[in-house]
Amino acid sequence: MDAIKGGEFLIRETDAQSVFIPEEWNEEQKMIAQTCQDFMDQEVFPNLDRIDSMEEGLMPELLQKAGELGMLGISIPEEYGGFEKRFVTSMLTTEVTGAGHSFAVAFSAHAGIGTLPILYYGNEDQKQKYIPKLATGEWKASYCLTEPSSGSDANSGKTKATLSEDGKHYILNGQKMWITNGGFADVYTVFAKIDDDEDLSAFIVERGYEGISLGAEEKKMGIKGSSTVQVFLNNCKVPVENLLYERAKGFKIALNILNIGRIKLAGACLGGSKRTIDLSVNYSNERNQFGRPISKYGAIRHKLAEQAMRTYALESAMYRCSQNIDDAILALEEGGMDHGQALLKGVEQFAAEAAMLKVYGSEVADYVIDEGVQIYGGMGFSAEAPMDRAYRDARINRIFEGTNEINRMLTVDMILKKALRGELDLMGHAQKVADELMSIPEFSAEEEGLFNKEKKAIANFKKAVLLVAGSAAQKLAMQLAKEQEVLMNISDMAIMTYIAESLQLRVEKLVGLRGEESCREQIDMVRLFIYDAADAIHKHGKDALCSFVEGDDLRLQLMGLKRFAKVDPVNVKEARRNIAARLIEANSYCY
Ligand SMILES: Cc1cc2nc3c(=O)[nH]c(=O)nc-3n(C[C@H](O)[C@H](O)[C@H](O)COP(=O)(O)OP(=O)(O)OC[C@H]3O[C@@H](n4cnc5c(N)ncnc54)[C@H](O)[C@@H]3O)c2cc1C
Repeated sequence: MDAIKGGEFLIRETDAQSVFIPEEWNEEQKMIAQTCQDFMDQEVFPNLDRIDSMEEGLMPELLQKAGELGMLGISIPEEYGGFEKRFVTSMLTTEVTGAGHSFAVAFSAHAGIGTLPILYYGNEDQKQKYIPKLATGEWKASYCLTEPSSGSDANSGKTKATLSEDGKHYILNGQKMWITNGGFADVYTVFAKIDDDEDLSAFIVERGYEGISLGAEEKKMGIKGSSTVQVFLNNCKVPVENLLYERAKGFKIALNILNIGRIKLAGACLGGSKRTIDLSVNYSNERNQFGRPISKYGAIRHKLAEQAMRTYALESAMYRCSQNIDDAILALEEGGMDHGQALLKGVEQFAAEAAMLKVYGSEVADYVIDEGVQIYGGMGFSAEAPMDRAYRDARINRIFEGTNEINRMLTVDMILKKALRGELDLMGHAQKVADELMSIPEFSAEEEGLFNKEKKAIANFKKAVLLVAGSAAQKLAMQLAKEQEVLMNISDMAIMTYIAESLQLRVEKLVGLRGEESCREQIDMVRLFIYDAADAIHKHGKDALCSFVEGDDLRLQLMGLKRFAKVDPVNVKEARRNIAARLIEANSYCY
């Protein structure tokens, strides 16, 4: 079977054996993760207060220590001082460091959006000059796209670049805002428009260059230890050789780097969620009320089970997608493409999935942490206990790397564009679903077997997405881009479908490896998730259809939607109790 392509999950089934599951990490990957974990336990977690008080020099020192251990060079080729590990391995390190609050943000801004533009778009001289220093942490990096009047609309920046009379420098003028690591970075990737260009170009700007100055540290709701400043460029002289890639190709760089940033953000949210579950289950086992630990109560078990299920589902989808990206990279490399280009193309192919994971991951983290606060009760509201920091720090994840609204809309936009380019036969499949609506449903005998019902439910979820997306494309045509509420509904339906399928595939593969008996709780997670997803998909689909279809047509489509979102009843109380029981016994996230 060919490898699955980006967006294709909507019209194709995946064989469980072909997905990567985190239970399959090899020894080397586990060792790398352990090195990161030891660093977090020794250097980051004991120092969270010092980090958040922005103790002078502490964050750069931590980044440098991480660099000495090789943590900043996971994705960097050996010739530039790194290890060039596969994408999925880099995601594992992102997960482990992702639990580190402000440090996680500084780490990913440096190793991700800070370093990668030079690594993937720099010429040989630029790479030789900057990458080894960034890999060791000797120099720190930041990424300067946002401006006061240009956030989501990132290509509308006003920062200008003009060539000096002697042709040796670009002179940059403008103002960048919200720049992570900006206060201590040595290298800034700055996006600016040359003369009257419509599109941005990118420049490597060193802190020592004439004409660059920094604003004061922003006072923020959370991630208080992460440096965030404005960067002012006032006749800043940047040598011409520091133009990155090509003139007016900066927006392409910005978008491709953000594709990577989005799936990485999901990885960081996964790490944060797992740590919060550990804290939540520890606390609920220790805290006694009415003579018993609160973990004995159904209301608390419900929360623990939901935290675990959503986190496990996120993990399933994130590593499934990471491996899909790796497979795409390998195929491109086999075709003769160099690793950097293959990586960008590979991630681009799965840009819709990366956007979905960004949305789902950041919302799972917020859910898990919000319930963590609730499990801690009054202590959840105390600045002396860990939930306070977690709650404030997590909120930014729904805003940066493209807000969740922008990412939801991008998801649908990217999938529809693939269909328009003929890369995905979305319309053909949508037509089949429309035809099915007009026919009498076939009643086939239920096949016995674990997950048969769940697989059928997921296949039906896909039909529900195709029904609504196909109907919207047909009825609204070019108007669809302006009907954002409908786009958000379709996106949410697609997200729930992708996550449900990823979870089911992982557990199916796991059952094959470990047997059904030892996967009872994971099987419960699949059933519970699908049961909930069915309602969510139905609601989003109904909201969408009711806003652009009318009369008999609406009645017919709503009937079809109901049929596609119908699932068997599940004893959700028992399922949640089972999932929570294992957590409570292990006293940590154990899935
Ligand atoms: C702590 C922090 C760190 C950051 N780090 C960096 C960094 O290192 N480098 C960098 O370049 N940037 C950084 N950013 C900027 C960040 O990426 C932007 O804040 C983000 O992209 C949103 O832009 P904005 O703040 O201008 O919001 P706006 O674009 O003004 O959005 C405001 C609201 O309107 C919505 N909206 C906007 N446009 C549309 C539309 N077309 N349709 C529907 N809704 C819309 C948004 O979803 C949002 O809800 C950081 C921001 C913060 C807060």
